[in-house]
Amino acid sequence: MAAYGLIEAGGTKFVLGIADADCTIRATHRIPTTTPDETIGTAVDWFKAQGEPLTAIGIGSFGPLQLDRSASNWGHITRTPKPHWANTDLVTPFAERLSCPVAIETDVNAAALAEAKWGAGVNCNSLLYLTIGTGIGGGFVSGGRLLHGLSHPEMGHVRMPRHPDDTEFKGSCPFHGDCLEGLASGPAIIARWGRSLSELEAGHPGQAIIAWYLAQAIVTFQAVMEPERIVLGGGVTGTKGLLDLVRTEAKAASAGYFAGDPEKVIVAPGLGERSGLLGALAVALSSTS
Ligand code: ZN
Repeated sequence: MAAYGLIEAGGTKFVLGIADADCTIRATHRIPTTTPDETIGTAVDWFKAQGEPLTAIGIGSFGPLQLDRSASNWGHITRTPKPHWANTDLVTPFAERLSCPVAIETDVNAAALAEAKWGAGVNCNSLLYLTIGTGIGGGFVSGGRLLHGLSHPEMGHVRMPRHPDDTEFKGSCPFHGDCLEGLASGPAIIARWGRSLSELEAGHPGQAIIAWYLAQAIVTFQAVMEPERIVLGGGVTGTKGLLDLVRTEAKAASAGYFAGDPEKVIVAPGLGERSGLLGALAVALSSTS
């Protein structure tokens, strides 16, 4: 049976895996993200030690990434502030040392593909995956294909209206201040209220404010893409009760204008923590289909 190599490349750790095309993950391994040479070398050694040829490798990586196939630096991490990793080629070392095709996407796009194929988007033609954690990102799948432009989408950086009870905070995005990420990411929440959203007591105004921002962003994305499903992933969205608050606010903000009932459109991830590795599998499969 064909074996696929999976790489979930994160800023603090790389998660590696071997899977079959039917989503059976047969082996996994975690390594710390240190320098590119050391981390990639350790990953290659682990794949070799598994002792079976790989049909393809799929990578879901932190970014930003160059995803334009015609660019000379396709598959490179580009302008990251993470020390050592700017302009790192993530594809060539694996392709050469493991002698198989390598496909790469952002971690958010990879998770979007996996949710569309096997998770909350099964039987849907279009799906928007949003992750709200340390940063905010979004990936959109329509007809099985990811949306790309000059680069991958940067949905976390849409400009936002301000909540009337949240006018003092300048926002935490180093580029834009009070964009969506600057207002609703984990660090923006801690900067305002000193704790994560799930640590705030029930009924704390912070929860209503964050739900309101997420809802404004969602109706913006609905206006542009009208996704059949909008999946809310990431650490912040694990907060108890937040999903219902977001649905209620989105319903109010959309004024009944968009297709689909927010209860059905706005959902939790279907794959949970597996979305990272299965995202890498979806990327690997898309390269061979
Ligand atoms: Zn921003």
